[in-house]
Amino acid sequence: MLSVAEAEKLILESIQAIEGTEIIELAKCRDRILAASITSKLDFPHWNNSAMDGYAVRFEDVKQPATLDLIEEIPAGYQPQKTIQPGQAARILTGSVMPAGADTVIMQEETKREGDLVSILMPPEKQGSFVRYRGSYYQAGNPLLSPGIVLKAPEIAILAAAQCVEVPVFRRLRVAILSTGSELVTPDQPLQPGQIVDSNQYALEALVAEMGAEVISLGIIRDDPTELKSAIATAVQSADVVISSGGVSVGDYDYVDRILEELNAEIKIRSIAIKPGKPLTFATFPNSTLYFGLPGNPASVLVTFWRFAQPAIRKLSGLAHGWKPEFLDAIATQELKSDGKREFYLWGSVSIADGKFQFTPAGGTRLSGNLINLAGTNALGRMSIGQTHIPAGESIPILKIG
Ligand code: AMP
Ligand code: MG
Repeated sequence: MLSVAEAEKLILESIQAIEGTEIIELAKCRDRILAASITSKLDFPHWNNSAMDGYAVRFEDVKQPATLDLIEEIPAGYQPQKTIQPGQAARILTGSVMPAGADTVIMQEETKREGDLVSILMPPEKQGSFVRYRGSYYQAGNPLLSPGIVLKAPEIAILAAAQCVEVPVFRRLRVAILSTGSELVTPDQPLQPGQIVDSNQYALEALVAEMGAEVISLGIIRDDPTELKSAIATAVQSADVVISSGGVSVGDYDYVDRILEELNAEIKIRSIAIKPGKPLTFATFPNSTLYFGLPGNPASVLVTFWRFAQPAIRKLSGLAHGWKPEFLDAIATQELKSDGKREFYLWGSVSIADGKFQFTPAGGTRLSGNLINLAGTNALGRMSIGQTHIPAGESIPILKIG
């Protein structure tokens, strides 16, 4: 049985960003992952321009209070026609192009205008005051955005400004999801004695869809080795990642590992010293499809997805940073207990009090089969092997979810 850290390392080291990329329209690239370095042929700013409403002048002329002749008005979008000569100035507005000859802007509040004359009441601090120079933010040809970043509003604004209307992104991952178990029924079916509603399919679909991947729903597969083998073989052909729940324990009807072997998968993990979630299979196929055989219990499914599958899917999707789980320190709001035998994950909620994270575990029974108190979970608290109790007010490492 592997430790959580060993399992995490093994899984993440076996994954590289997918190779497939596609070109999409700028308007559709939100939340996608950039697949190539973006450069621009434009300098930013594109030309020297004014940072203020005021007057474009020659620094030489205004080292002391002076009155200058206004020779031109330069509103936004206008190309100046004249060159500022000694003793001259131009009216200029924020963002407008600096006229030739001028090197400094005097803000309106420090001037007095009378017809075609402007008096500069206060000398500027330095040459170039309130001028934004061409290329001072970015020079054409340099890397503007690097691959592996998620495209959110700031990056989309940059792409738009750089006139990058066709954006190279990693293709969406295809993730197949199936539930194993002859006791399972879909939520719309009447329950017979002994049957259980397949909640895992819905939980996993939501988790995968939230990550921006394409979901392939395979639904419930009975505990029948032939049916299960054919379902898994189809899933492996069509998906980058296959996630199943159930059937990975040591029961008589737990066929997943055996089927994976028959299908030539390399099983890298069979169980992990984690609670909840000990029976967890991770395998890779010769076509490089990844397989996560999560336990059947609903709480185990969520915890093991967040802890192992989510970082793996993030890394595979092309993210350059932020795929590795990072634990933060929080203060436990109540006493926390564990039997100390396996690395223990408590689901609960994190909030901020006095500028610090604080972690409150979900109330009630914390058994892996209980999904009722999972509502509102936004963090997992972690207790190490051998750690049996954390007093209220002490710190606990937490993993934020979502
Ligand atoms: P297994 O690992 O297949 O023995 O499943 C462990 C427990 O999880 C059993 O009580 C199952 O009934 C339950 N379970 C398995 N699959 C699901 C599912 N898709 N949705 C809800 N509960 C499940
Ligand atoms: Mg089962």
